Amino acid sequence: MRGVKHLPPRLLREVGRAISEHKLIEDGDRIAVAMSGGKDSYGLLVVLRDLQRRAPVTFELIAVHLDQGHPGYDGAPLRAWLETEGVPFRILREDTYTIVTDKIPAGKTYCSLCSRLRRGVLYRAAEELGCNKIALGHHREDALETLLLNLFFSGKLAAMPPRLVSDDGKHVVIRPLITCAESDLAALAAERRFPILPCNLCGSQSEAQRKQMKALIATLEQKHPTVRASMLAALGNVVPSHLMDARLTATRAAPDGPKPAAADPVLAIATLLRRTSAS
Ligand code: SF4
Repeated sequence: MRGVKHLPPRLLREVGRAISEHKLIEDGDRIAVAMSGGKDSYGLLVVLRDLQRRAPVTFELIAVHLDQGHPGYDGAPLRAWLETEGVPFRILREDTYTIVTDKIPAGKTYCSLCSRLRRGVLYRAAEELGCNKIALGHHREDALETLLLNLFFSGKLAAMPPRLVSDDGKHVVIRPLITCAESDLAALAAERRFPILPCNLCGSQSEAQRKQMKALIATLEQKHPTVRASMLAALGNVVPSHLMDARLTATRAAPDGPKPAAADPVLAIATLLRRTSAS
C-alpha cells in the first residue's frame, strides 16, 4: 500500500481515540467506506487502511462510490486511484441528479436532498455487500458547524454522533474522523495528491448558512484560539441537568444529580395547582 508510513500522527491519534472511545470498529466488521471523491473521503480510506494493517482486530473495508448522473461527471480518476491502491471497491450508478433538479425549485441549494438520497443508496448498497457498518468522512468542522446550525436555525442541540444506529436498526453509521481537524485532512490530500472529484457539477453551492457558521467559528478563533477545541469538548461533556429538556428531566435518575421530575418540590406544587384549578 502506498505511503502508509507517513500518515500524520495527529490524524492517526484522533481516529484511534474516536474508535476506541466510541467502539466504532469491532472484530469481524465489514465496513462500507463512503467515497464521495472529496478530500475527506480519501483521507478516511487511507487512515482506515493504515489502522487495518496494525489494529489488534480484523475488519474488512470496501470503498463505495456513487455516480449520481451529474452532467460532466467523470469518476475515472477515483476508479484508477482505487485500482492502484488495491482497495476493494464498488461503484454504483443512480440518477439522483434528475430527482434533485426536479424536486428543488430553481435558486435553492440541492445539497440537503442530494445527501439524503446518496445516504439511502449507500445504505442499500451496504446491505447488498454484506457490510454491517458504513463509515462516513465527516470531520470536526462538520460537527461544529452542524451544532451551530441546529442551535441557531433548528432550535435543537444536536451535532453529528461518532456512531449512530439507523432508525430501522439495520445500519450502524460510524464517523472515525469526527474529531480530526479539516485542515489536517486538507494537508494530507495535498501531500498525497488525491484525485479529487468536484462536488458542484450540479451548479449547486454548499449551503450558505453552513458557510456562515464556518466563517463565524474562524472569526471567533482569531480572538480565542482554543474555541474549536472547547466546542468539541462540549459535545462530549453534556450536562443534562443544566438544559431545559423535560424529557431528560423526567428520566434522570443519577444519585447525585437533580431529582426526577415527580420528586421535585416545585414541580409537585405546579402539578397540585393544575389539579386544583381543574377540579
Ligand atoms: S454540490 Fe451538488 S453534488 Fe455536491 S452535495 Fe450539493 S447537490 Fe450534491
